[in-house]
Amino acid sequence: MSTVWSLIIIIKNRKRFHVTFTKKFTQSEYPSEDPSVERKVTKSGRSLFSVSPIMHTFIHLNFSAASYTDSSDDETSPRDKQQKNSKGSGDFCIKNIKQADFGRREIEIAEQEMPALMALRKRAQGEKPLAGAKIVGCTHITAQTAVLIETLSALGAQCRWAACNIYSTQNEVAAALAEGGFPVFAWKGESEDDFWWCIDRCVNVEGWQPNMILDDGGDLTHWIYKKYPNMFKKIKGIVEESVTGVHRLYQLSKAGKLCVPAMNVNDSVTKQKFDNLYCCRESILDGLKRTTDVMFGGKQVVVCGYGEVGKGCCAALKAMGSIVYVTEIDPICALQACMDGFRLVKLNEVIRQVDIVITCTGNKNVVTREHLDRMKNGCIVCNMGHSNTEIDVASLRTPELTWERVRSQVDHVIWPDGKRIVLLAEGRLLNLSCSTVPTFVLSITATTQALALIELYNAPEGRYKQDVYLLPKKMDEYVASLHLPTFDAHLTELSDEQAKYLGLNKNGPFKPNYYRY
Ligand code: NAD
Repeated sequence: MSTVWSLIIIIKNRKRFHVTFTKKFTQSEYPSEDPSVERKVTKSGRSLFSVSPIMHTFIHLNFSAASYTDSSDDETSPRDKQQKNSKGSGDFCIKNIKQADFGRREIEIAEQEMPALMALRKRAQGEKPLAGAKIVGCTHITAQTAVLIETLSALGAQCRWAACNIYSTQNEVAAALAEGGFPVFAWKGESEDDFWWCIDRCVNVEGWQPNMILDDGGDLTHWIYKKYPNMFKKIKGIVEESVTGVHRLYQLSKAGKLCVPAMNVNDSVTKQKFDNLYCCRESILDGLKRTTDVMFGGKQVVVCGYGEVGKGCCAALKAMGSIVYVTEIDPICALQACMDGFRLVKLNEVIRQVDIVITCTGNKNVVTREHLDRMKNGCIVCNMGHSNTEIDVASLRTPELTWERVRSQVDHVIWPDGKRIVLLAEGRLLNLSCSTVPTFVLSITATTQALALIELYNAPEGRYKQDVYLLPKKMDEYVASLHLPTFDAHLTELSDEQAKYLGLNKNGPFKPNYYRY
C-alpha cells in the first residue's frame, strides 16, 4: 500500500488513534498529576498549562542559547578543521563537535513540542516507510529540523544535510547531529562560497546518491540541476517548503524542465496558516527585541506585504501598541489590511516618519536606496521574507556610507550627515537569523514535509508526473489531527445523518480544495 503509509487506515480508525495518541503524548508531556503544573481550564474546556517545568526549561534554554552560539572567539573556518565524532567519523563539516551535548539537550527540548513527529517515530517502530530512501536536505538547521532529520532516519531514510541560510544554523545542533552520525555541512556565518561548498559536499559523495530532495528555497535543487543533472534519473521526488523554491519549481515545470514530481509544501494549508502566520506573529517581536531592545508601544511601523507573514507581523505589533501601516500590491490583501484596521499606504508616504520597516513580500527591491536615503535617524530595517532581495542592501555598500557592526546581526549604516539606520541580519530573514521560532508551528511544517516525502517515495509509478503537486487535503487534516492532543482538544465527529446532509465522508476531507480557511 503506497498512500502515505497506512494513512487511510489511520484516518478510518481516527477515533481509536486519537485516544492512543492522547495517552502517549499529552500525558507524558504534561503529566497532570504533577502538582507543580498549574492547570487552567478555559470556558471551552481546553486545558492550558501556565509554564510547566518543561516549558520553563524550553523557554529558558531557547532564549539563552539558541542563536548565540557562533563561538566568535574561534575564527578558524570549519573547512580548515579536521574533526571527528566519537565514533571516528569525519563525514561532516560544522563549527565545533564539542558542542554536541549542548545541542542534544536542545533537540530533546524541541522534541517536547513536536508531538506529531514523535508519534510518527513511535508508529515507525515496526514499519519503515522510508527504508531505502536517501534524502539530501537543505533547510534551516535548528533543533526542530534535527527532530525532523532524526525522525526521517527512524522511518528508515539515510540523510545528508546542508543549511539553506548562512546565518540560521544552530552550531550546537549541527554538532549533535554530526555526533549522531548524520553528515551535516553547515555553520552559522557561512560565506557564500561556503554555502555552495556545503551543498556540494552533501550531493557529491562517492558511493552515495540521493533519491529524494527536501529543499527550502530551491538552492539545492538548482545546484543539482546545474552540476549533476544525471542524478535526477534516480531521484523520485522533490519536497519544497518555501514560496521562492516553489516558484522556481513552477517555472521549471512551465518550461518543461522539471524532470521529477515535486510536492509544494508551502501551499499546504497547515504550512501557510501555521508556519507563516502564527510563527511570524510570535517571532517578529522576539527578533526585533533581541537585536535592538526596542520598545514597541507607540512606535510607527510599516509592514510591506499583507500575506500570511505580513498578517502575523502586523497582528503582533498592533497588540503591542505600535501604529502599523501596510503596503500591498494586491487589492484583496490590501482590503483585508484595511478591514483589520491598518492604514494602507505607499511606502513613500510614510518612509520619513516610521521607526521600523519590515518587508514580508517575497519580492525584490521593495525597499530601495531611495527609501533608505529618506528614512529618519535610527530607523530599524529588517526582512521577514525568505530571501535577502527585498531590501536593496547592495546599494548601501558605497564609499560614502560607513558600516558599523554594533552587535551580532546588527549593523549601523551611517550617512555622511551622521544619520544612521539600523539594519538587521543584512536584510536576510530576521526571525531565523536573530531569534528562534516557536517549535510547535515548525512541528506542523516538519510533519507535512515528512508525510510529503513518504508519499512521493512510496507512490506507485504514474501517480505523480513531472509536475508540482499539493499535498492531498486528507494529509493536511491528518497533520492537524496529530497536533490536537497536545491541547487536549476534542474534535466533534459528524453523525451519519450530518455527513449525508453535507455530502461528506465522515473521515474527511472536510473541505473542498478551494476552501480558504
Ligand atoms: P504571501 O504571498 O502570502 O504574501 C506576500 C504578499 O506580499 C502578497 O500579498 C503580495 O501581494 C505582497 N507583495 C508582493 N510584492 C509587493 C510589493 N512590492 N509591495 C507590497 N506588497 C507586495 O507570502 P507569505 O506567506 O506572507 O510569505 C512572504 C515571504 O515570507 C516569502 O518570501 C516566504 O518565503 C517568507 N516566509 C518567511 C517566514 C519566516 O519565518 N520569516 C515564514 C514563512 C514564509
